[in-house]
Amino acid sequence: MGNQSGESLKEAIDRLRKEKNAVILAHYYQTGDIQDIADCVGDSLALAQWAAKTDADIIVLCGVHFMGETAKILCPDKKVLVPDLAAGCSLADSCPVPAFAEFVRQHPDHTVISYVNTTAAVKAVTDVVVTSTNARQIVESFPQDAKIIFAPDRNLGNYINSLTGRKMLLWDGACHVHEKFSLEKILELKREYLDAEIITHPECKRPVIQVSDFVGSTAALISYTMRSDKQQFIVATESGVIHDMRKKSPDKLFIPAPPNDSTCACNECNFMRLNTMEKLYSCLKNEAPEICVDKAIGDKAVLPVKRMLELSAQLGL
Ligand code: SF4
Repeated sequence: MGNQSGESLKEAIDRLRKEKNAVILAHYYQTGDIQDIADCVGDSLALAQWAAKTDADIIVLCGVHFMGETAKILCPDKKVLVPDLAAGCSLADSCPVPAFAEFVRQHPDHTVISYVNTTAAVKAVTDVVVTSTNARQIVESFPQDAKIIFAPDRNLGNYINSLTGRKMLLWDGACHVHEKFSLEKILELKREYLDAEIITHPECKRPVIQVSDFVGSTAALISYTMRSDKQQFIVATESGVIHDMRKKSPDKLFIPAPPNDSTCACNECNFMRLNTMEKLYSCLKNEAPEICVDKAIGDKAVLPVKRMLELSAQLGL
């Protein structure tokens, strides 16, 4: 698509980004064209770290709503845009704040650790935020007998409990994308690609985790495929990540793990895929839609997010 001046969509986005001193941050689950035009592509931890240090006037967060909120919480004086405001997250939605705040009130002696995939309001009743990159280490930074509430992902919480011997109290939430990988179809693929390693995000269900050769955050999965001697990988996370894996290891084969409820060969997050290059252009041009966070909520929510960034820096993450 070009405009009247013959400028391509990519060129127009690039021009607007410079004119407006904007930075485009994209999550690994965005489509390849958005990843390719972004200033930075990363997982939730990297996106928060970049947002915290940017000197741009406008942050365009190509990801889902909670990621835009996290950027806004960290940079309340900057304009934070997302290409499509309807890009939500089933995991964040599985933890509504009234019910969660009541759960926290019922356990006043517990430290509250929340995954970054939560609304600003849930972060506001949290002691420390984590991402899948730092969750285990941050949990382990608390004494072994510390009483901890972990929210909202029950699969990630169970996985960390199993690794650390903790008995964290888990909120019963989940991501609809990571929960629907089919163990049977993954094992079928494994029989077809005997040398392939199964690599899995910890938001997946336990049976998929148990047959995996490597379990890690999006960034950890990418880096594992770069250093592994193996040439073939069955990838059990949102299939957008394969774009970056192929760029970094062009000679290796990446096979998306299939979901259990369709004939589609890969598993995509319908929320992430709401963002398109056209919407990215339009949001830069119109400086909308903008993410807004209530000041009282933002003032509370920023504390556990900053605590995560400080702990991550201490842990070298
Ligand atoms: S993949 Fe799952 S956790 Fe990630 S944004 Fe989509 S719904 Fe949320």
